Amino acid sequence: MSRIVPVNKNDYIDVVFEDLTHDGAGVAKIDGYPLFVPNGLPGEKAKVKVIKTGKGYGFGRLVEIYEKSPYRVEIESSEFHKYGGCQLEHISYEGQLKYKENQVRQVLTRIGKLEDVVVHPILGMDNPVHYRNKAQVPVGEKDGKLIAGFFKPRSHEIVDTNESVIQLPEINEAVQVVKEICSELRIPAYHEESHKGVLRHIMARYGQQTGELMVVVITRTADLPHKDKLVEQIVAQLPKVKSIVHNVNSKRTNVIMGEKTNVLWGNEVIYDFIGDVKFAISALSFYQVNPVQTKVLYDKALEYADLSGEESVIDAYCGIGTISLFLAQKARKVFGVEVVPEAIEDAKRNAELNGMTNTEFAAGEAEVVIPKWYKEGNSADVLVVDPPRKGCDEALLQTIIEMKPKKVVYVSCNPATLARDLRILEDGGYKTVEVQPVDMFPMTTHVECVSQLVLVEGN
Ligand code: SAH
Repeated sequence: MSRIVPVNKNDYIDVVFEDLTHDGAGVAKIDGYPLFVPNGLPGEKAKVKVIKTGKGYGFGRLVEIYEKSPYRVEIESSEFHKYGGCQLEHISYEGQLKYKENQVRQVLTRIGKLEDVVVHPILGMDNPVHYRNKAQVPVGEKDGKLIAGFFKPRSHEIVDTNESVIQLPEINEAVQVVKEICSELRIPAYHEESHKGVLRHIMARYGQQTGELMVVVITRTADLPHKDKLVEQIVAQLPKVKSIVHNVNSKRTNVIMGEKTNVLWGNEVIYDFIGDVKFAISALSFYQVNPVQTKVLYDKALEYADLSGEESVIDAYCGIGTISLFLAQKARKVFGVEVVPEAIEDAKRNAELNGMTNTEFAAGEAEVVIPKWYKEGNSADVLVVDPPRKGCDEALLQTIIEMKPKKVVYVSCNPATLARDLRILEDGGYKTVEVQPVDMFPMTTHVECVSQLVLVEGN
C-alpha cells in the first residue's frame, strides 16, 4: 500500500523530535511519516529543511532549534561528531545512558515480546571519555604534509584529526607522533584512487594496565623507506613503546591489514590484563577496545553463569577466549568455539599464558561444532554465547533447546537480535531472568547487554 508523502523536498517545516535512530539521528513524524534529522534530540522543537523524501521515510537538516533538550551539550568538533564515530557526543552522558537503556527496554518488548523481563539500569563509565585502546587511521597528504584521521563517508577525502574524545591520550599521542615523524622523513602517503604511494595506515594499541604501547605502520610496498630512522625516532619520542611492527598490504582493498607482518623493533606482542587474566595482543589479534567496561560486562557474565567449580561450560563465539578464560577461573572445564582460526590460536596461547589447563578451544562455526558435540553425547551445564551483530544462528539455538543446559548467558552487541533470540529460547523452554545493559562505547550508539536465562523446570 503506498501512502501519500506529506512533505516535499526543500520544504521548511516545524517538528518535534520523538526518538533517535540507531545512528543517533532525531526522528520526527509528520502525519505518521518519519523524517530522520541528524543532530535532532527527542523532545526538541525545531525548524527542519526536508532534504530527501522516500516512500516510507525521508531525511531532513536541522535549521533552528526552538526548544532545546535538557540533555543537549555544546560540542566543538562537528566533523568528528558527524563522521568520526561519536554520534552521541552532543548528548550529556546521563542522556546517552537513558537513551541506550530505553532502547533495550523497547526492543525487548517490541521484538522479543518479553513483557515482564527485568532490565537493570545500564552500567555506565565513571569517566566516559578517552577509553579506546586502539586506533587505526588512514594516512593522506595535503600541502606537502602527511595528514591522518578518518575518511569522510562515501569519499576518499581524509579529515586530519588527532584529538579523539574516545581514544586514550596515549593513542592520540602515538598517532600524532608517528604521523609527524613519517612526514618529516618524507615517507609518501598511499593514494587510494591511483593505488600508488607507500604509507596506508598508522595503527596504535595500548595496554592500559601494563602501560605497553604498540605501533604498527601499514604500507602498500614491501619496502619501508627510512626504516631505521623511523624506529629510532619512535623509540626516542614514545617511551612507552614496546613493539614496532610493519605490515604490508599491497592489495586494492579497504581491509586495513595485509598478510605480511614483520617486527621492526621490540616484541611481537604487548600484554594487557582484564581483571586477573593476562592477554598477549599481536598486531592482528582481536582485543576488546574498552577493557574497563569489558571487565564490568564479564563480571556480570560470570555472576549470571553462577559457577560452583563443578560445571562444564561452552563459550560459543569465543574470539580470543576472553570470556572463556574468565569463566575458567570458576568452572571445571570450558570449551570455546570460534570461526576465526587465528583467534583460536590466540585463545590457546592466552590459556597457557595464564596457566589454565581446564580449557579447550575449537575452530569452526558454533552452529556446526556444538550440534556435533551434542550428537557425540557431549553436553554442558552452562552455555555462554557472544555472537556478532546478526545474533545466533537458528541451528545453534535449536541445539541449545535440545541440549538443555541449565543456564544460558547471552552477551549481545545488538539488542534487536538479542530480543529475537531470547524469544526463540523462551518458546523452547527457557525463562529470561534478567538483562543487564552495559555501556561499552560511550559517545557512540552501541549498547551491549548480558542476559541470564534459566531452563524452566519440566522442560
Ligand atoms: N567473546 C569474544 C568475541 C565476541 S565477538 C570476546 O568477548 O572478546 C563475536 C565473535 O564471533 C567474533 O570473534 C567472530 O569471529 C565470531 N563468529 C562469527 N560468526 C561465528 C560463527 N558462526 N561461529 C563461531 N564464531 C563466530
